Amino acid sequence: MMAEAIEIYDDRLLAIVRPGASLQELANGAVHSEGPVYFHEDDRVVWSDAHGNRLLRWSPSDNVSVLRDPSDYQSGNYRDLEGRLVACSSGLRAIIRREDNDEWKILVDRYQGKRLNSPNDLVVKSDNTIWFTDPPYGITEPNQGYGGEQEQPGSYVYRFDPATGEIYPVVTDMVRPNGLAFSPDESLLYVSDTAGFNIPGGPHHIRVYEIVSDRHVKNGRVFCVIDPGQPDGFRVDEHGNIFTSSQDSVQVYAPDGTQLGKILIPQTSTNLTFGGKERDRLFITAGHSLYAIDLNTRGVQL
Ligand code: MG
Repeated sequence: MMAEAIEIYDDRLLAIVRPGASLQELANGAVHSEGPVYFHEDDRVVWSDAHGNRLLRWSPSDNVSVLRDPSDYQSGNYRDLEGRLVACSSGLRAIIRREDNDEWKILVDRYQGKRLNSPNDLVVKSDNTIWFTDPPYGITEPNQGYGGEQEQPGSYVYRFDPATGEIYPVVTDMVRPNGLAFSPDESLLYVSDTAGFNIPGGPHHIRVYEIVSDRHVKNGRVFCVIDPGQPDGFRVDEHGNIFTSSQDSVQVYAPDGTQLGKILIPQTSTNLTFGGKERDRLFITAGHSLYAIDLNTRGVQL
């Protein structure tokens, strides 16, 4: 018997979901939960109360605590190869990193001398470079940043190398790039476009690109269209399956683009991450809450 919170459209999902596993609500009370990242060192999840302008932390022993308040509208969070928290600051319009002395350092906030729009989500590649999206939500949406003028001509996906300071726009043909992830072998880059959120007729899909070099991708195409809602954030498991947020669920797609099914979530999901000691627990930010469900697959991210 499958838990009633799971809809199966393709039998391949049977190998992914765990019979009897149920969705657990771990925390609530956030204004708008986003950007979870897991730290195995002390079994904790850090995530953003993005519209509440706070950074929160959950662990089985301590439950919920406030890590940063205000957080300058921190959005997506990740960890670098040294285990440091790196994040998108929608308010500071920058990529920031929590240093060992607990201070936050701005790593990059400009491209070609002009301010970034408002970095939204990021991933760290195995070479420790940071790839991030830069839609203008921190400028255009009053509860996601401090406003200001847009200085970049578009909304791009950048590759940033913290070792050299080099920043370069890798993807420049999307409307509102938002979430992003690599395939397990890092040959493919998936990027979601959430323009449909506030642009009538705008895309609400995930695109996939073949990575040619540190600066170039090719053959960008639509991988899947998300309905209802938007593919804000998503993650990839060890087999290349995509787990993406949407309005009613976490939707699961095979590497060939087939929708395998849904994990229904009571609130609109925004982002998710794999965690737990075995990396087989999916942590999901949705609405005011943080949820988790155990799976029979493991995430590829750190
Ligand atoms: Mg996002």
